[in-house]
Amino acid sequence: MDEQPEVLTNDVKAEIVESAKKHLSETLEAQVSKGYFSISELRAYLTCPLYGYFRYGKKLWTESTGAAALVGSSVHFGLARWYSTKKTSREQALEYTRRYFAEESSKVNWENEKIRDPLGEAVKSEAMLIAALDEGDDWEAEAVERSMYGEIRHSKLGNLPVKLKGVPDLYTKSNIVIDHKTSYRAWDKGKEHKDMQATAYAGLIRDNFGKNPEVLFNIITLNSKGPNVDRRSTYRSQENFDQLYMMARGILDMIEKKAFFPNPEAWFHETCEFRGLCVDTNGQNGNAIPTTRKELLRLVPKLAAKSGPKS
Ligand code: SF4
Repeated sequence: MDEQPEVLTNDVKAEIVESAKKHLSETLEAQVSKGYFSISELRAYLTCPLYGYFRYGKKLWTESTGAAALVGSSVHFGLARWYSTKKTSREQALEYTRRYFAEESSKVNWENEKIRDPLGEAVKSEAMLIAALDEGDDWEAEAVERSMYGEIRHSKLGNLPVKLKGVPDLYTKSNIVIDHKTSYRAWDKGKEHKDMQATAYAGLIRDNFGKNPEVLFNIITLNSKGPNVDRRSTYRSQENFDQLYMMARGILDMIEKKAFFPNPEAWFHETCEFRGLCVDTNGQNGNAIPTTRKELLRLVPKLAAKSGPKS
């Protein structure tokens, strides 16, 4: 006969929650001292724990970037100008995109890029910005690229001892938090409902403005058919916030146990700036960072003079 599942009384449930809380407070003693996770930091640890460790744990901040990221940042820069000036000057927004691309282009190692065409990529960034402006909207900015902190809160387990930090692209007076995305291919169906970033932004708005917002992805794509703008809307519930908590909790455990494993399946593995360090440690755990800066620079040539990311 099958064993009957044990029925949990409220007392037993409360005991389990208390014991989980105790366990967490004990294991969290060794957690990161700076007191927050940025959204990009969480994404880095999730994509490749070893990359996250090099970049955020060891603060080996490099100035290198890829062509696609440069195009995306240039479009973001123009859009930030557009919305922060109440959509008054297309020319100025375009100028900001152009200038950003020109100033940051030297950080791309064009030799390593699939498309080694800085001029062509600059034109693409302008085309994407124009497509986004032409699409039109009735968004009125409450906050443009404002740094925000919020709690990482579980419905039963309370708050993590680290906060969440993020910089939403745009938050409107009508309670929509907007994330601009640039891409060379269309988003898969339903992707907006699974995106961790949407949960993080919704949590930040909830803590800073006291409302659960609509999260809208403003996706600007450019492919052989030309530029296109796709807008996807989603909402987040407490269940999603609980999932975010558990994910961040898992990363804190990883930091505490120093279990930073490489992920050669990461999408940026081939062009990763820490490839030299990774190879030198046989991809095991990457803890054997050279003790001299000279040797470090040989392995990570684009290392910035001052270490540590801005967020
Ligand atoms: S080279 Fe690959 S495995 Fe190593 S840190 Fe970078 S992404 Fe991770």
